[in-house]
Amino acid sequence: MSDPLSPSLSTNLYGGRLTIDLDAIAANWRMLSSRLVAGGECAATIKADAYGTGQDATGRRLYDEGCRTFFVALPTEAVALRRTLPQDAVIYVLDGLFPGTAEIFAQHRLRPVLGCHAEVMEWAAFCNAQGRAFEAAVHLDTGIHRLGLSREEFQAVMGDDGITSAFAPSLIMSHLACGSDPAHPMNAHQQAMFAALTAPYASIPRSLANSAGVLMGPDFHFDLARPGIALYGGKAIDTEANPMRPVARVEARIMMVRHVPEGDTIGYGAKQTAKRPLRNAVVAAGYADGLLRRAGSTDDRPGGFAMIGGYRAPILGRISMDMITLDVTDVPEALVQRGGFVEMLGPDVAASDLAAYAETIDYEYLTSLGRRFERIYGPLDSR
Ligand SMILES: *Cc1c(COP(=O)(O)O)cnc(C)c1O
Repeated sequence: MSDPLSPSLSTNLYGGRLTIDLDAIAANWRMLSSRLVAGGECAATIKADAYGTGQDATGRRLYDEGCRTFFVALPTEAVALRRTLPQDAVIYVLDGLFPGTAEIFAQHRLRPVLGCHAEVMEWAAFCNAQGRAFEAAVHLDTGIHRLGLSREEFQAVMGDDGITSAFAPSLIMSHLACGSDPAHPMNAHQQAMFAALTAPYASIPRSLANSAGVLMGPDFHFDLARPGIALYGGKAIDTEANPMRPVARVEARIMMVRHVPEGDTIGYGAKQTAKRPLRNAVVAAGYADGLLRRAGSTDDRPGGFAMIGGYRAPILGRISMDMITLDVTDVPEALVQRGGFVEMLGPDVAASDLAAYAETIDYEYLTSLGRRFERIYGPLDSR
């Protein structure tokens, strides 16, 4: 946000701008909190720079909104977050305990999510050596087969007083494999296994729900929810309308407007032919800015689109590293001016839309956005 150049000068030098609406992120967090069963805590998953929205700004805004528990993926993210957030914020590291790092976790008051037997044993041994029971979450694998203790390991660990009294298990958690598809039988299977295996330890807070889990209803809520994508306006459930507010807008600058004769091709590879005389706008953002290259178009396959003053402008040809060509033939000329902006992402172009054209998900799109954009924190509706 702060820029060594004067704001008016610097703004004109950027190829595009990324606006992030922290109030919308806070509103999404409140909405998800309100869906939880009474007494349930809504945490926030802010790994990967808060899905591209900025770990510091988003973390602080959510703390101010009342959020007290935060999940990041990596110890490096957690150390940075600890510097940002007030001391009573609880920070969990989802990727768990990397070998030999227990002391740093303790020093920064970070809690590892212990995801295998070896991590549990290393944390317990560290606590014993320090003579202090530091907190940690225990991750139970209910079927995703990524991180998490197996059923047998979980029962062995939780049934061993020597281990569970060495450290302080502050959370038991598991992660859904198929939340984006609520009809998938895996959800009920994971829910039932989690409920059954953790029932003897119900005095310890339990957590199963990511964003999709929150939206799937009370059976999935347990004591604490860990939404990520929904906070950022993403589509957690594929098969339902997205109830979340958009939180980000990407605008790319129009460098020039030109004409393409019928029959000529546009872009690298010459894969997109003009089927009529076209007017196109060349904008100054491309895949190096996170605009997914696979969302380009060819004669055989449509690509994504941008919006200009309520008009749709389809992407023409391949997305280049630094630029995209848009079909503005049907957009009023007054709206398409050199130096003006088009909306590549925002209230009128959902992240899941461009992602779908690129055969990926909004998670990947959002986390790849914006290293070269001017970054603005403010409301999306101001322009
Ligand atoms: C990323 C992640 C989340 C958040 O998931 P969303 O689908 O973005 O809500 C929750 N729990 C774990 C273990 C995760 O890795």
